Amino acid sequence: MARYIFITGGVVSSLGKGLAGAALGALLQARGYTVRLRKLDPYLNVDPGTMSPFEHGEVFVTDDGAETDLDLGHYERFTGVAARKTDSISSGRIYQNVLDKERRGDYLGKTIQVIPHVTNEIKDFLAIGEDETDFMLCEIGGTVGDIEGLPFFEAIRQFAQERPRGQCIFMHLTLLPFIKSAGELKTKPTQHSVKELRSIGLAPDILVCRAEQPIPEKERAKLALFCNVRPESVIAALDLDSIYEAPMALHEQGLDQAVLDAFCIAPAPRPDLARWERVVDAIRHPDGEVRIAVVGKYTALEDAYKSLKEALTHGGIANRVRVRAEWLDSEVFESEDPAPHLEGFHGIVVPGGFGERGAEGMVRAARFARERGVPYLGICLGMQMAVVEAARDLADMPDAGSQEFDHEAGAARFAHVVYHMAEWTVDGRTVRRKVDDAKGGTMRLGAYPARLIEGSHVAEIYGDQEISERHRHRYEVDLAYRERLETAGLRFSGLSPDGGLPEIVEIPGHPWFVGVQFHPELKSKPFAPHPLFASFVGAAVAQSRLV
Ligand code: GLN
Repeated sequence: MARYIFITGGVVSSLGKGLAGAALGALLQARGYTVRLRKLDPYLNVDPGTMSPFEHGEVFVTDDGAETDLDLGHYERFTGVAARKTDSISSGRIYQNVLDKERRGDYLGKTIQVIPHVTNEIKDFLAIGEDETDFMLCEIGGTVGDIEGLPFFEAIRQFAQERPRGQCIFMHLTLLPFIKSAGELKTKPTQHSVKELRSIGLAPDILVCRAEQPIPEKERAKLALFCNVRPESVIAALDLDSIYEAPMALHEQGLDQAVLDAFCIAPAPRPDLARWERVVDAIRHPDGEVRIAVVGKYTALEDAYKSLKEALTHGGIANRVRVRAEWLDSEVFESEDPAPHLEGFHGIVVPGGFGERGAEGMVRAARFARERGVPYLGICLGMQMAVVEAARDLADMPDAGSQEFDHEAGAARFAHVVYHMAEWTVDGRTVRRKVDDAKGGTMRLGAYPARLIEGSHVAEIYGDQEISERHRHRYEVDLAYRERLETAGLRFSGLSPDGGLPEIVEIPGHPWFVGVQFHPELKSKPFAPHPLFASFVGAAVAQSRLV
């Protein structure tokens, strides 16, 4: 039976609960335990799949095709454990399940209430897979005191109460603000936050306090006394240069020891942190730097491309260089020449996105990269726009474009080299979609295999011809144009195993030009950089020696 660690947050949002949970997961692994991490989100969307990236940051896609919160990306990057559909749930999904059961008559005519029906549904979710792992880390999104979070807090209270003593602990993240004029870290907001927690029946075992400076003894003692935790369970989470320093930093603060103590696990197995020492060493001592331009649509919010940013960092770790990624709004290139903006970069990434805004700017960025021999990685929409670019300029199809934009505009302007995917196969089963289908959860989602063409650049990069990558798209490059595009110099170097869907294109003769229909950034880890990112950053290093 798994031991449960419930992670809550107080005082302010954005304290990094997800990161703290992920780092703790990594530390427990370092001590030889298996872990699984989960996120419970209080919002009413059924999943984040239909939310704008500006709302909630990136949508992280799992192998089994769930569209989830970006914290699941942190969990995976820190632990290497592939997230699953059953690791992410929202109030919306919980209510949907409860209401579906009510419609089916499953509740036998009872009045349906938050307690017990909604809380039972949450508890059932928490228990999924509990016999498969040593530790289950469950993060509750939002901040204690939020109205919409209450059913989750109540559910974890009941859950812990119903379990044998010692099977569940609570870890609470707060902020210790530093008041300059007083020269002090203030504990009062944390005291209030814990008071709020205790008023709903939860008592934290561990306090993780974000602070700009180390917590002096006096404040630590005060927190311990007023919040009813042991002094050694008050853990300082100081600001770090890199998130990958978090496991080592929290270990030095005694977090993993405090957690094992709270479970009365003694003697605690010794940790092996070699993996994290290597990662931190590579990040702290790079041999040089490369500049990468990310030309996308959602550049106003870095969280919108969270996994991409991290995957680029991992590519840097693989080459022992620092990657300086700069985010450029592709829309700018629709009115301005991209050259002055892009000169001086050692590589260009055009990431995923939806809708026409900024797409022409991506086409122009791809053209710049192709013509100037600058390393180019196009991801999903970035691959589709690279194909549009090649069709227009190399294959003499000036009206090439994507059906996505014609559909959106109710127009017929383009020859659809990128068209709506009407069907594809999953495990031998055919999935069919119409262009006007409901938006939620209807894309081609999750892990699909691809076969790489022998002798292609990507086959060399992967060192393999069979790969599996995660997808999230509705549109696809039309293979009807394959011959015409290949004759013009664009090679289709990866296809779905049935040969029906193109997965990868590349430009032979270009130093590094690859477009992928999937999202390689979702599978990259600091201790196992994704081959495409390792190779792309390697090419950027070569480029940096030229310019
Ligand atoms: N909008 C494109 C599609 O649906 C690309 C999606 C993406 O970049 N994730 O195919």
